[in-house]
Order: sequence, then C-alpha cells, then structure tokens
Amino acid sequence: MANNMTETIEKTEMSEDSAKISAKTSTDMAGQSWFNRPVPGVKQQLTPQLTAVETEPSTKCPNCLSMITNTALIFNCYVCPHCDHHLAMTARERLQWFLEQVDGEIGQEFVAKDPLGFVDSKPYPERMTQAQTKTGESEALIVLYGKLRNLEVVACAFDFQFMGGSMGSVVGDRFVQAAEKSLAERKPLVCFAASGGARMQEGLLSLMQMARTAAAVERLRLAGIPYIVVLTNPVYGGVTASLAMLGDIHLAEPKAMIGFAGKRVIEQTVRETLEEPFQRAEFLLEHGVVDEVVHRHQMIDTIYRLLAKLCHQPNVDA
Ligand SMILES: [Zn+2]
Repeated sequence: MANNMTETIEKTEMSEDSAKISAKTSTDMAGQSWFNRPVPGVKQQLTPQLTAVETEPSTKCPNCLSMITNTALIFNCYVCPHCDHHLAMTARERLQWFLEQVDGEIGQEFVAKDPLGFVDSKPYPERMTQAQTKTGESEALIVLYGKLRNLEVVACAFDFQFMGGSMGSVVGDRFVQAAEKSLAERKPLVCFAASGGARMQEGLLSLMQMARTAAAVERLRLAGIPYIVVLTNPVYGGVTASLAMLGDIHLAEPKAMIGFAGKRVIEQTVRETLEEPFQRAEFLLEHGVVDEVVHRHQMIDTIYRLLAKLCHQPNVDA
C-alpha cells in the first residue's frame, strides 16, 4: 500500500514537470505569451514602445506640433525636420552657430538704468531681473566678433526672449559700439534682428536709440564698410524703423514677420481689411522690401559669399 502511494506521488510530480515543460515549449514556439496572443474578435491594446522623442528632452514644433528631440533640433539648426518651420534661436546660440571662431564679446559693461522710475504691472528693474534670470543674458543684444571662415566680422543678435528683444539704451550702446569696432577695424557688420521695437520702459531714451543706431550705420556707409541685416521672426517697431532697415543687404528667414505696426493697428488706421501674409518675408520680397529670403541651412554660406564679394576677397568659395 505504502509503495503504491509513493509511486502515485512520483507519477504526479513527473506529470506536473512534463506539463510545465510542454507549456514552456508551446510559449516559445508561439513566440509570445498566451496573454498577448490575439483573440479573434477582441481588439488588442498593447503598451506602446517609448520612442526616442518620449525619453529624450524634446521640443514641440509650433507649426506642425510634432515633437523633435533637442539633439535633432540643434543638429538641424533649429529647423523642424518635418515641416521646415524655422524655430527661434537665442542670440548667443545664433552667434555661436554663425561664427566659426569667436574672438571676444563687447558691450558687456553697459548696464540698464531706470531713469523714469517706470512701473506698469511690475517695476522696470524687477522686469529686467526676471528677463536676466530667464535668458542668462544681461541685455537683449549680444555682440561677438570673430571669424566667418576667412573673414573677420563683427556680429550682433537680438534675443527675443529678453523683454521681446526691445531696444533700450543699452541695446543702442552695444549696437553703436559694434558699429564703431567695425569702423575702426574695417570689419563688416552683420546684425540678426528679432525685436518687438523700442522699450517703452525707457520712454524717450529708447526712441533716441533709433537716431543713434541710424547715425552709426551711416558712418559705416560713408566708410564703405558692409552692413548686412538678417531679419528673423519677428521684427517690428522702432528696430524696423532704424537699424534693421538700413542694411546694404536685407536677408530674411522664411515666413518671418516683419513690419512697423501690427496688422490690427494698421487696419484701424487705414480702415481696410488686410490680407494675412502682408507682413511675411515672402510678401516683402515680392514688394522689394527684402532682398532675399534665405533658408537657415544656406544662411551662413549666403552671408559669407556676399561679404567676400563686398570686401573684395579673392578666395570666394563657389
Ligand atoms: Zn514642424
């Protein structure tokens, strides 16, 4: 009896083992567990695999809303690989992308003051501190000098993230200093504009910068030193009305909005409904305001070739 019992237990254990083995084999054979096996008539809800976009820091394209990894975006010069939309660049990113070799920065010694004691929803100094913390820059215009291939150039760029790239007295100071360096060293000046206009917190002092910067550009013109303006999205107000429209050549990025006053203000003034693209770079090219609309991927090459021609450089790349 006892022997029979032992035999029965052994048989049961053996049959369990063989069942496990056969189950495992059938799972392996099917290549998936029974849990994931499709059942006719039942919709499958599989957990989606995380893509690179979901695991890496990414940015959403404001035009086509697709997610682009920051690495891909930087690699593509901040142009959306899906819809070719030109995303905004900070001033420093722009200049470091543009200059092959940076030799130095100028204008850092200028600090904004609050001559009017201006307060709107916040005091002006508080707004400045906030903008400085947000962008890591001390003002809305950055001036670097260095090399664009074999050409020595002075280049400045507006940071739209810094109080809308508005032109206060420090922006004027820095631009004038950039122009004076160009003049003294006979190096061409390139300006990447992106601004909402004059800085209302500095009142008349910011409006004065229009005359100051225009005078600085005029000195360059008289000395025969090239000044190229690149209009990026957006350029408005006092910046359009001064330094951004006084270049020897005006290039623009695709679909950049360029104007003096906004659409609504013009419509209220002229009492007419205006067509939507009338302030776009492409429309302005057709009407002679802009000399060329240039894709960001061709921008450095275009500026280099133009400057090399204007500076009478013999070794111009084709
Ligand atoms: Zn896009």
